[in-house]
Amino acid sequence: MNTADMQRRITDAVDDAFDRQMETTKQFSAIPSTRGAEGPCQDMMHDLLRVRGYEVDDWHINTDDLKDLRGYGPIEHDFSHARTVVGTYRPTRDAGRSLILQGHCDVVPAGPLDMWDTPPFTPTIKDGWLYGRGAGDMKSGTIAALYALDALHAAGLKPTARIHFQSVIEEESTGVGALSTIQRGYRADCCFIPEPTDAKLVRSQVGVIWFRLKVRGKPVHVFEAGAGANAIKAATYLVEALEELEEEWNRRAASDRHFKSVKHPINLNPGIIKGGDWASSVPAWCDVDCRIAVLPGWSIAEHQAEIVACVDAAAKKHPFLAQNPPTVEWSGFLSEGYELTGAEESEAVLRKAHEAVYGNPLKELAFTALTDTRFYGLNSNIPSLCFGAKAEAMHGFNERVEVESLRKTTRAIALFVADWCGVEPI
Ligand SMILES: [Zn+2]
Repeated sequence: MNTADMQRRITDAVDDAFDRQMETTKQFSAIPSTRGAEGPCQDMMHDLLRVRGYEVDDWHINTDDLKDLRGYGPIEHDFSHARTVVGTYRPTRDAGRSLILQGHCDVVPAGPLDMWDTPPFTPTIKDGWLYGRGAGDMKSGTIAALYALDALHAAGLKPTARIHFQSVIEEESTGVGALSTIQRGYRADCCFIPEPTDAKLVRSQVGVIWFRLKVRGKPVHVFEAGAGANAIKAATYLVEALEELEEEWNRRAASDRHFKSVKHPINLNPGIIKGGDWASSVPAWCDVDCRIAVLPGWSIAEHQAEIVACVDAAAKKHPFLAQNPPTVEWSGFLSEGYELTGAEESEAVLRKAHEAVYGNPLKELAFTALTDTRFYGLNSNIPSLCFGAKAEAMHGFNERVEVESLRKTTRAIALFVADWCGVEPI
């Protein structure tokens, strides 16, 4: 069989199963797998892998095993049910290059339901888009990878290299799901994560630090508010100081070779605010959970120290905070940025697959969000590709993924696997 014939057989097999793929994608996206509630998604993935004949490893994550690994972020919630699921395909003849295919099944909260046109966990196809929380980021990508492997089988082919199909959690808050696969010992010649990138290859991506400002005040009755100190107002003052640090980091980013062309790549986000106990009492406490980005090559420890120094310096200039200094807690991500390097071999294979499906050259992307690829690239020196479908409003309302872009992504993944791992007739 020549290459063109083989490619056609594979892409036809993707098309033949595409309706079923969309059904599975909808079922997977219907599970409200926010942080701590990923169990049913992992159960579904376990079953999908088992019925296909993969050797399934399904384990509880023990954070004690991970604490000292590079990129670990502290966990604050009940983690006793947290699991990772890996399905392994072992070739009868091992002749190609091994592969990790990975997706995360955790999703961010849906937010106020009345702001969605259709319920977030009732996946709905409308005007060529599949709507739902997690439909884009990134349940459709995980299912696309699964059906890409199915398509090889349906085309009468089997890979000639080991494949680990990994379903992880915690991508949206610490990354310890991906980290757990490394701790468990999973390795391959290449990792591929089909996050939605609009058919572009992620060349460089930011890292992220999560922190919590803990600010105290002095509670008094509001009629004598001048005698008290308002913790909510003081927290706002500290966030403004941190915005100056954000601008300083953006000035530094102007000399980064990939991010210099991205406008404002470092974003500070105060994402959660809690504080006070009573409308007529000056608030005695305020906690603000923040996220800020760092670029590849920037040390996490040094940038943590800059955050603390910024908060300390601002507090010293504040009448109440100077005597009652706020504290900074690390509340999740402590993740480095990642630049894809040393991946020429796998990139070339993806370029070929992309060209065959899309008919034009593969474009690259400097990504202002993070993905799990960093763990494979930085911890294990495994080149880690991120490439996938077209999605919009990730983390927003009416999150959606374009259905035709999913079909193309699935074809591209299938061709990539066939070429990277090698295939032989069943
Ligand atoms: Zn994602």
